[in-house]
Amino acid sequence: MTPLSFVYNALPARVIFGLGSLEKLPEEVDRLGASRALVLSTPEQQVAAAGIIARLGPRAAGLYANAVMHVPSEIAQAARARAEELRADCLVAAGGGSTTGLAKAIALTSALPIVAIPTSYAGSEMTPIWGLTEGGGKKTGRDLRVLPKTVIYDPALTVTMPPLLSATSGINAIAHCVEALYAKDANPIVSMIAEEGIRALAASLPAAVREPANLEARSQALYGAWLGGISLGAAGMALHHKLCHILGGAFNLPHAETHTVILPHAAAYNASAAPEAMARAARALGSDSAPQALYDLAAGLGAPLSLETLGMKADGLDRAADLAVQNPYYNPRPLARAAIRQLLQDAFEGRRP
Ligand code: NAD
Repeated sequence: MTPLSFVYNALPARVIFGLGSLEKLPEEVDRLGASRALVLSTPEQQVAAAGIIARLGPRAAGLYANAVMHVPSEIAQAARARAEELRADCLVAAGGGSTTGLAKAIALTSALPIVAIPTSYAGSEMTPIWGLTEGGGKKTGRDLRVLPKTVIYDPALTVTMPPLLSATSGINAIAHCVEALYAKDANPIVSMIAEEGIRALAASLPAAVREPANLEARSQALYGAWLGGISLGAAGMALHHKLCHILGGAFNLPHAETHTVILPHAAAYNASAAPEAMARAARALGSDSAPQALYDLAAGLGAPLSLETLGMKADGLDRAADLAVQNPYYNPRPLARAAIRQLLQDAFEGRRP
C-alpha cells in the first residue's frame, strides 16, 4: 500500500437538514444579521417562492422570479439591479441549480450572503463555482463569495420534482461523486463522502421516482445530493464534466439529462485507469461493474439513455470530440481523440457499456 499523501481544503458551510427544516429560515436570516432578503426562483417555482416570502414576513424585501438555465448575463444584470433597488442584504435562493446559479451571479459582484434552499439534486449550493452565459459561451469560475453561507435541505420541498428531473438530477449528483473518486486532488475524506453519496442516491432514487411523495426516499436522495455537492466543491472534475459542459454550452443539450447519458460512458472510458475509484463506485452501486450499473440505474428510472433522444445531431459528434481535446485538463486516462469520439458515438446511440 502507498503511504497516504494529500491536500484537503474544507469549505465553510452551515447545513440544516431535515423534514420541516424550512421553518428555520427566518432565524437563519436573522443569524446572518440580515433583514431584507431578496427571494429568487424560476418562473415555474414562483408559487413555492411566494410561500417562502410569506414565511419570511417582514424580512422579505422582494421576489425576483426569472431564473433560467445557465444564468444568461442579461438575467444576472437584471437581478443585480433588483437587489440594489430593494437594498437587499441577503439572497434566498429557492430552487434547483439554475436558481442557486442566479444567486451566485449576484453575490459575485455584491458579496451578499446566500441562504440556499435546494429543491433538486444539482448540488450547486455546496460549491464556490459560478457560471454565466454570454454570446453563446459559458464562463465559469471559483470564488468563495458565491458559496452559500447557509443551506437548508428540506426533503418536503423535493416531492414536487417531476420524475424525469428526480432521475436525471439524481444521476447528476452521482456524477459529482464518481468523478471525485478519481479526481487529481482526490483524498480519503472526499472519497468517503463520494462513495456514501453514490450509495444513498442509488438506493433511494428508484423509490423517489416511483413514489414522488415517499419522504424516506426523498430524504435519502437529498442527503446523497448534499454529499454530491460536497464532492463537486472539494475535488476537481474530469472528462465527464468536461463533456457535459461542451454538450450543454456548444450544443445546448439539457444539463441533468446530458449528465445521465454521458456518465456510464465516461466511467467506462476511465475504468482501466482508475481501478480503485471504480471498485468503490461499483461497491456503492451494489455491482461488479460501475459503468454497467450506472447505465442500468438510468434505464430502470426511465431516464434518457442516448444523446440522440436529447436532440444531439450525429454531425455534431466530431466537433464535440475536437472540443473535448482542445485544452488539456486532468483525466485519469489520457485524452485520446479517437477513443473520445467512440465514447460520444456510444452515448449518441445509447449503447450499454
Ligand atoms: P433547474 O434548476 O434548471 O431546474 C429545472 C426545472 O425544474 C426548473 O423549471 C425548476 O424550477 C424546476 N424544479 C426544480 N426543483 C423543483 C421541485 N422541487 N419541484 C418542481 N419543480 C422543480 O435544474 P437543475 O438540474 O437543478 O440545475 C441545472 C443548472 O445548475 C445548470 O445550469 C448547471 O450548470 C447548474 N449547476 C451548477 C453547479 C455549480 O456548482 N455551479 C452544480 C450543479 C449544477
